[in-house]
This record gives sequence, structure tokens and C-alpha cells, in this order.
Amino acid sequence: MNQTKYIFVTGGVTSSLGKGIIAASLAKLLQARGYRTTIQKFDPYINVDPGTLNPYEHGECYVTDDGAETDLDLGHYERFLNVPTSQANNVTTGRVYLSVIEKERRGEFLGKTVQVVPHITNEIKERMQHLGNSGDYDIVITEIGGTVGDIESLPYIESVRQLVWDLGESNSLVIHLTLVPYLAAAGELKTKPTQHSVKTLMESGIKADILVCRTEHELSSDLRHKLALFCNVTRDSVIQSIDASTIYDVPNLMLEEGLDKVALKKLDLPEKNTPDLKQWNQFLFRLKNPKHTVNIGLVGKYVELQDSYKSILEAFIHAGSANETKVNVISVHSEYIDKENAADKLSGLDGILVAPGFGERGIEGKIETVRYARENNIPFFGICLGMQMAVIEYSRNVIGWKEANSTEMNEHTAYPVINIMEEQKNITDKGGTMRLGAWKCTLEEGTLASKIYGGETNILERHRHRYEFNGTYLNELQKAGLITSGVNPDTGLVEIIELNTHPFFIGVQYHPEYKSTVANPHPLFVSFVKAAVTKKSK
Ligand code: GLN
Repeated sequence: MNQTKYIFVTGGVTSSLGKGIIAASLAKLLQARGYRTTIQKFDPYINVDPGTLNPYEHGECYVTDDGAETDLDLGHYERFLNVPTSQANNVTTGRVYLSVIEKERRGEFLGKTVQVVPHITNEIKERMQHLGNSGDYDIVITEIGGTVGDIESLPYIESVRQLVWDLGESNSLVIHLTLVPYLAAAGELKTKPTQHSVKTLMESGIKADILVCRTEHELSSDLRHKLALFCNVTRDSVIQSIDASTIYDVPNLMLEEGLDKVALKKLDLPEKNTPDLKQWNQFLFRLKNPKHTVNIGLVGKYVELQDSYKSILEAFIHAGSANETKVNVISVHSEYIDKENAADKLSGLDGILVAPGFGERGIEGKIETVRYARENNIPFFGICLGMQMAVIEYSRNVIGWKEANSTEMNEHTAYPVINIMEEQKNITDKGGTMRLGAWKCTLEEGTLASKIYGGETNILERHRHRYEFNGTYLNELQKAGLITSGVNPDTGLVEIIELNTHPFFIGVQYHPEYKSTVANPHPLFVSFVKAAVTKKSK
């Protein structure tokens, strides 16, 4: 077996430079050249996983097929590469310490003092090589969260230093992503922050092999030369990463800059074929040359932060391109919607998506939103909590169970049409205990859902929730016209609801947004956007 090669991506100067996008773009190019590539992310916080984090902290929590609650960058990896990730692709400081401490309790350290170096760093190094050792990958890209110089990042930086040393010449390389700011007053791009950041990395014993410089303006040849000289990298290793109109442009921009070639050269790997980005570029062409425009309302309670609904927004980009349609996503705060103002806030939308979420805040606004969409024939798409709200709305306003609710919001409601799952009842821990990951769903022939999925009978979709459609009310809701078009074949739990008295009304208990990629836009999003285009043209 050939030696797996490792690429480490570190960040300097500031956070939010887009390490995840650079890592995903490089991986895309290497994949397109014929290398089996994966990306993993190491996050320096102490939460064991981001599952317990409020979306306002780090944005959405991304869920993998194997039920790992992970950093949203893994979503970018999947959307770019179209290859599923897993728990092994995301490791946090909390997970590392938890596992070292568990080993210590089992007596595995044989009486030794357990320390950051070597015990924590060894655990990190082992995990950094875990996917590489599987034999499934030629190249493993490891993104180190945070910014060089952070106290929290130190054990990771030390682990990278040791690994580079362990792996030996040509088997690894370090990319440093920095910012080259433009000072308007001076009319100049400045290299000093990059120089300092590279120096900080050097103090930890790591030499950056490639600099990727985020910038708002083109880097001149002189400036590239200066960066190379002062940061001790070769001239072709200064890569410009200029602001792009869409993240999906970045692989092409990196190709133009030769990031993939210089990386392969440093890893002593052949260039193989020129990257075949035909399908990718077709996607981009359709994205940039839309024939229609639609306005879709995204109704949720975390709308202030774009990253909270990252995968949903990206799924709309994929579905928009598939429909040659520009999708304007208009965020609507569910907390401020009520019966009186619903028409004001929602009329004029070509489609309405009610977002996933937890807790009581904003749910009455979501229920009003569903009512408005249902009564006014506006294409409606409910995801997870959004689907649950649709069941509650139907129970309240069509059947007349005025008190219908989810036991998440009101434990004593007379009509708990959504209630906690049996197996969740005695769980008190919050971390990693929901119904998570890929579960089967069987689709009912002849329904909208079955049509959307191209006539497939069995699908697998990813979940992240504790509450469910309450089977006790199934018959009555069905009799009243609510169609349950998808159920879990093993448990009978309802996964999809829809209405056939409406042009497009569907709610899903799972999260389809996690599985939408550039290569495979999710059919639910594609059909929803299509329904919005149809509505608008009427
Ligand atoms: N809060 C709901 C539940 O736990 C919905 C979760 C979600 O939207 N992801 O079932």
C-alpha cells in the first residue's frame, strides 16, 4: 500500500477566513485529478461535539450518516466532494481529553503522570492518522480550527509539528491561510500580519510550505515575491485567494493559482490528469445564468446568523442551479409573526420553508406561517421542527384541536400530536442522545414524496431530534386529509407528511439539507424550488 500523504491547513491573523472552503477546494481538485482524498477537522473547544452548542455559537450542527454531530465545515466537505464523512472526520479537544481520561481510568498509562505532551498529543496524532490508516485514502487533509497563537490550538500545532517529523520528507505539507488586508487610507495591501503569523507558526517549530492569502485585491508580482522572501516559501507557493461571488468558484480560482500542482509537487506525487471539472462548471454556469428568480421565505428563530442554516442555504443554491433559478432566500424571524401580521410578512413569497429548531421560542409564529402557506396555496416545505409545526397546525385549525401541541413545548397539552419518543423518555444527558444519523424511510406509492424521489421506495435520510409524530393520532389526522407518505419501516414512525389539496405542501421529520451536494442536489429542494417557479409564473 502506498504511503498516505497528509496536508495540514492552519489559519492565521483572524478567524473566518474560510479554511474549510480552501481545504474543500483543494480536496476537490485532488479528487478530480484522481486522488482518493478526504478532509477532517480538529476543533480546539472542550465540548465533546458541537451537538450541545447553540447555533449562535458556531452556526449549524452538521449531522453525518453515522449520526455524528459535527462542525459545519464537514458540510462543505461533503457538498464539494460528494463523499460522505463520519465521526472520524471531526475531533474536538473535548473528545480527545475524554478519551485520554477514560484510558487513564482504565489504568492504560501504567502509573505514568498523564500530560499534554505526550499523552494528549499522541491521542491527537493517532486520530489525525486514523482515516489515513484505513487504506481508503491517498491524501488526508486536516483542517486545524482556530487561529495560530491561540492557547487552545497549541496541542494541535505541536501534534502537527511531531507528525511532520514522524512522517518524513515529502509525506506531508503545511498550508497556512492568512489575510492580506487592504488599507484604503494608504491604498495598499499589507503583508505584515502574514509575516507575523508565519513567525508565530515558526516559534512552534512549524514551517509553512504554502501560503494561501485571502485578499480583496489582486496580489502583484512584487508583493508575492516579498511574501515568499519574508515568509520563507517558494515563489509558486504564494497563492492568492481573492474574494469570490460564490464559494463554488474557489476550486477554479485555486486551479488557476496552481494550488493543487504545488501541493502535489511538495508531496512528491504525480500530477496525473488535468482536473475534470465539467459537471462542476455546468453547475456554476446554471447558477450564474438563471432564467427565473424566486423569493423563498426561511422562517426560523436563528435567522440573525447566516451560518445557523448553512446547509439549507447551500441546498437552495444547488436546487436553484438545477432549476436555472436564482433563489432569493428571505429570512423571516418566527418570533415576530402572528395572525395579524402574517399576510404582511409572508405575502409575495413564492415558497415558504419552516426551519428546524429546538424549544418554545418562535413556535407560535411558525404555526401561523404554516397556516398562511396552507390557506394561500403557497408552496410549503417543513423540516424537522417545521414538519412538527405543520402537524400541530393541521390539528388545531383543520380538525379543531385548539390545544394541540408538542410535548416539547407543553407537557400537559390535551392533544400531544407530537410527543417524545419512547426510547428518549429516560434519557437525561443532552449530548449525542437524540435520534441521530441515517434512518430508513419507506415511501407510499402515488404520493408527492414518491414522485419527488423519482419513484424510489426506500430512502435513507439523516435525523436529529427527540420528538415524533404521535401515532395515537395517526388515524384521525389521516381521516382529516393529512397524508403520511413516508414511514420508518422498522418502527412505523411517520417521516413525511403532505397534503394533496395544495399545490406543494410537504413536511419531513429528517434533515434533507445535509445530503444535498453540487453533484447531487437534493430532490426535495429541487422540487420545492420548481414549485415556487411554477407558482410565480401563474
Ligand atoms: N425540537 C424538535 C425535536 O427535538 C425538532 C428538532 C429539529 O428541528 N432538528 O424533535
